[in-house]
Amino acid sequence: MKIKTGIGYDIHRLREGKKLFLGGVEIPFSKGLEGHSDGDCLVHAIIDALLGATGEGDIGKLFPDTDTRYRDIRSLKLLESVMDRVRDKNGKVLHVDCVIIAEFPEIGPHVGRMKRILCPILQIEDSDLGIKAKTNEGLGDIGKGEAIAVIAQTLLEL
Ligand code: MG
Repeated sequence: MKIKTGIGYDIHRLREGKKLFLGGVEIPFSKGLEGHSDGDCLVHAIIDALLGATGEGDIGKLFPDTDTRYRDIRSLKLLESVMDRVRDKNGKVLHVDCVIIAEFPEIGPHVGRMKRILCPILQIEDSDLGIKAKTNEGLGDIGKGEAIAVIAQTLLEL
C-alpha cells in the first residue's frame, strides 16, 4: 500500500445565460461557467487531483471534449466514474482540499451543500474535505468576475 498525492487546477469563463454549477450545487447567479460539460470547475479540479494520484493522466484524456457523449453532462457523473476507477485499483481517498478563487458570487454560503454532495461520492467524512473560497482581490480576469478558478489537492491510499 502506498500513500499518494495529486493536484488539480481548472479555470472556466463566466458567461451570461448559463446556470452556475460549482461542487455539484446550482448557485443562483446571473452567469454560469462555460464548458463542454456543465462547467463545474471545482469538480474538474478534484477529478484531475484524483487522476494525478492514480497516475491516469487528466480529465481531458479520459473524457475528451470532442466526444459528444460528454456534452452538457453533469460533472458529478464524471467524478463518479473516476471514483469507480479509484476503487478498481483498491484505492481509497483519505483527504481532499480545495481553494475556489472567485470574485463573484459569494461562495461561502454554499460550501455546506457542496460538501454534502461531494463527501458521499468521494466516500470521505465531512472533516476530510476542505473547501475554501477567496477572491482574487480584484486582480486580473478572475478579479473582474470573468472567470472562476479552483486548485484541489488529494491524498489517496493505493
Ligand atoms: Mg474544466
